[in-house]
Amino acid sequence: MKKRIAILGSTGSIGTQSLEVIAQNPDAFEVEVLTANNNVELLVKQAKQFQPNVVVIANKEKYSFVSEALSNEDIKVYAGVDALNQVVEMDTIDLVLTAMVGYSGLVPTFNAVKAGKNIALANKETLVVAGEIITKIAHEKKVEILPVDSEHSAIFQCLVGEFMNPIEKIILTCSGGPFRGKSMDELQNVTVDDALAHPNWDMGSKITIDSATLMNKGFEMIEARWLFGLPASKIDVIVHPQSIIHSIVQFEDGSMKAQMGLPDMKLPIQYAIGFPYRIKNNFPRFNFLDYPSLDFEQPNTKIFRNLALSFEAMDKGGNVPCVLNAANEIVVEAFLKRKIKFLEMSDIIEKAMNKLAFIKKPSLDDLIDTNNETRRVTELLTEDRI
Ligand code: MN
Repeated sequence: MKKRIAILGSTGSIGTQSLEVIAQNPDAFEVEVLTANNNVELLVKQAKQFQPNVVVIANKEKYSFVSEALSNEDIKVYAGVDALNQVVEMDTIDLVLTAMVGYSGLVPTFNAVKAGKNIALANKETLVVAGEIITKIAHEKKVEILPVDSEHSAIFQCLVGEFMNPIEKIILTCSGGPFRGKSMDELQNVTVDDALAHPNWDMGSKITIDSATLMNKGFEMIEARWLFGLPASKIDVIVHPQSIIHSIVQFEDGSMKAQMGLPDMKLPIQYAIGFPYRIKNNFPRFNFLDYPSLDFEQPNTKIFRNLALSFEAMDKGGNVPCVLNAANEIVVEAFLKRKIKFLEMSDIIEKAMNKLAFIKKPSLDDLIDTNNETRRVTELLTEDRI
């Protein structure tokens, strides 16, 4: 039986690489649903190639383009966010791969989990915003959340076969991004192009900026907290510029297991959608002799303050990580549009975190409200109007 997959966000970096993996394994996987926000040309091309049952275009204004382009195919076309939120409940889906960017992943992922669908999770913001709620329902519904994020895939792979052996700590590796080792002064005037030039990973623009500010690593700590049920005190970050060791688990006997390989997202994608099986492939192999030394250093949380802010958000819990995420989405957008400078991103996020009211046990609706209110406040902060 082929695994029938819904890919939410099929035209982005993870989405397109997932389709490459699926195309290489036509006996194992079948595309059931494809969704995209705006990139209709690529969505139509993908739909013609993979022949899903359903395609959803989130932007309603682009519905007629997609439905006309696919009028000769046996593919249902829907439009709008409501359709996106509902399509994940289809009976014919075995696995939902969440590859959309940011907060927009929350409601569809929530609905998919509620409908009992296993999740291949590439949208880390969902667990940052609502990790407690999502993992609780996943547990009740016996839904598996399989990490696609390379660090979390590494930890997940290290835990296979360990049953309930307690974890002493996990160590997330971090490339350090394009600005590793830079001083505050040097960061004062770095440009969008500087920030978009990631040394090891080829990714979409939002996550690439998050990697340059280390917010990505902050989010990954929170993601790990929920995926592996660990307290903040058991989650460490180490900078490892070569991105060969993808993360490490240390058990209570002091033994450490690490997962390593070349930085290529296709491997964690393939592991998540193929789990529990490892599938033969011809991806380039890592060779120790190409990397005679692997380096490690402490992350600098005074310069990369997003890491400290993330730790604070994780520690406080409640709706604070939701504030962190929403404020970050606004400042990254403002930075990409060259409205604010690189270092201002952390300043504004911190101000937003201090302005929003704390909710200790937020419901999903509370989180939706927090998200909206944080965006409003952060927009004003970004425009210097409060
Ligand atoms: Mn990652």
